[in-house]
Amino acid sequence: LGGSISRALAQMSNATVIDEKVLNDCLNEISRALLQADVQFKMVRDMQANIKRIVNLEALAAGTNKRRIMQQAVFTELCNMLDPGKPSFTPKKGKPSVVMFVGLQGSGKTTTCSKYAYYHQKKGFKPALVCADTFRAGAFDQLKQNATKAKIPFYGSYMESDPVKIAVEGVERFKKENCDLIIVDTSGRHKQEAALFEEMRQVSEATKPDLVIFVMDSSIGQAAFDQAQAFKQSVSVGAVIITKMDGHAKGGGALSAVAATKSPVIFIGTGEHIDDFEVFDVKPFVSRLLGMGDWSGFMDKIHEVIPTDQQPDLLQKLSEGSFSLRLMYEQFQNLLKMGPIGQVFSMLPGFSAELMPKGHEKESQAKIKRYMTMMDSMTDAELDSTNPKLMTESRIIRIARGSGRPVRDVMDMLEEYKRLAKIWGKMKGLKLQKKGDMSAL
Ligand code: GDP
Ligand code: MG
Repeated sequence: LGGSISRALAQMSNATVIDEKVLNDCLNEISRALLQADVQFKMVRDMQANIKRIVNLEALAAGTNKRRIMQQAVFTELCNMLDPGKPSFTPKKGKPSVVMFVGLQGSGKTTTCSKYAYYHQKKGFKPALVCADTFRAGAFDQLKQNATKAKIPFYGSYMESDPVKIAVEGVERFKKENCDLIIVDTSGRHKQEAALFEEMRQVSEATKPDLVIFVMDSSIGQAAFDQAQAFKQSVSVGAVIITKMDGHAKGGGALSAVAATKSPVIFIGTGEHIDDFEVFDVKPFVSRLLGMGDWSGFMDKIHEVIPTDQQPDLLQKLSEGSFSLRLMYEQFQNLLKMGPIGQVFSMLPGFSAELMPKGHEKESQAKIKRYMTMMDSMTDAELDSTNPKLMTESRIIRIARGSGRPVRDVMDMLEEYKRLAKIWGKMKGLKLQKKGDMSAL
């Protein structure tokens, strides 16, 4: 996929005369690749038309880097298509919210419910899980197992066969227990059937969810649009989660799900473990969709953001898969030196959505400084280690004392490190590129 797009762009780049035909050929090639990535036919056609409208043929012909101009246009267009223009409901701590999960059987609802609960628990919420799947044998056991492991309260029944009754009982119980995030897992069926949608409508009507999340398997292919639309027609879907992004699928169906539900993608599932869950970040997602790898933007920006003398060292270490606390410290230093945080670093994976939410730059900066103060109390061995097991309780307490911060803050900082190490760790084995060499695309 990436190959055919880069080939198309390279051909365009080499053409001495850029005319309508060259542009069309290039767009056709890109479209073919997007179709292979499961982007819906109609959306590909719309994108093509939009690009033709935006890209100025004369500017393209004169531009020194035609490849870059086209890449940028396609990239921006796909990002826009993933933005439904309104944010989804977000739960607030201390205020009871009900969130209902819907999706076909096997899409990953039960797994994703647990991940979603766990994610919010780490943020200080009091989540609870309700199993309203009475269709599949073993559904309750699966939820129970996940919930127990994560120490999250759960509700369900082996006997009761009415999903509406269980959902209502569970929601009521957890409201009484002052849970602020009550998550209702529902049943799926192998196929889209009237009975399933009727059941979803009833559960939704009875529990009055603040948010309905549609869970979609990234490998669903061209069926994504119809499936998402069918759910949207029976319940008011307000957000989308795409699962199994750790597999081969590029996740082009996400564009369909957004279009069909007019709701944003909020998270992606990246594995079977409860931790394999990431806040959806549109740029790396689109990079992957275009077969650019998550890293072309990264490589690009590394050259702009990281001081030249540090680049070889950083890339070397990342390619060896060793993202140490010291490396994180150095990136924080670079970040703070740049003055107003934003724009540039927002391209670096992991640094945008979570560490530096838009509009909270000041707080983010203060947090990063706090992290650095704590790291100043670490030994060289601790800073250079990539083994999280090294950070024993006694070391954590020592660092907290040394930096005059609560233990919780040190734990926070280590969590952040783990998160970034996981993301940046994917750079392992990357081929080092010289400055200006954008052959990744
Ligand atoms: P449900 O029927 O919609 O509740 O789906 P489940 O939560 O039971 O998930 C179906 C299968 O997909 C299980 O084997 C899960 O472990 C697996 N699964 C769910 N999410 C992911 C993911 O993000 N990545 C991978 N690799 N597997 C997943
Ligand atoms: Mg399930």
